[in-house]
Amino acid sequence: MEYYAIQKLKDVWGKKPCDHPKLEKIYYTGAFLTVYCCTQCGEEFTIAQKMEMEETRKEVKTL
Ligand SMILES: [Zn+2]
Repeated sequence: MEYYAIQKLKDVWGKKPCDHPKLEKIYYTGAFLTVYCCTQCGEEFTIAQKMEMEETRKEVKTL
């Protein structure tokens, strides 16, 4: 997903709550950053945040 597409997602989604069902890698031109964003609301996450979210979901599933 590209940066301009994320800005558009954020505009469309606005401030509605989102449980971030799907995260996708973001490509910043010329930057060596690996960042993920929610394909639904456009919120950005670092790798650490993404992993933490996946861990939390695993815990929820095993309960
Ligand atoms: Zn989201």
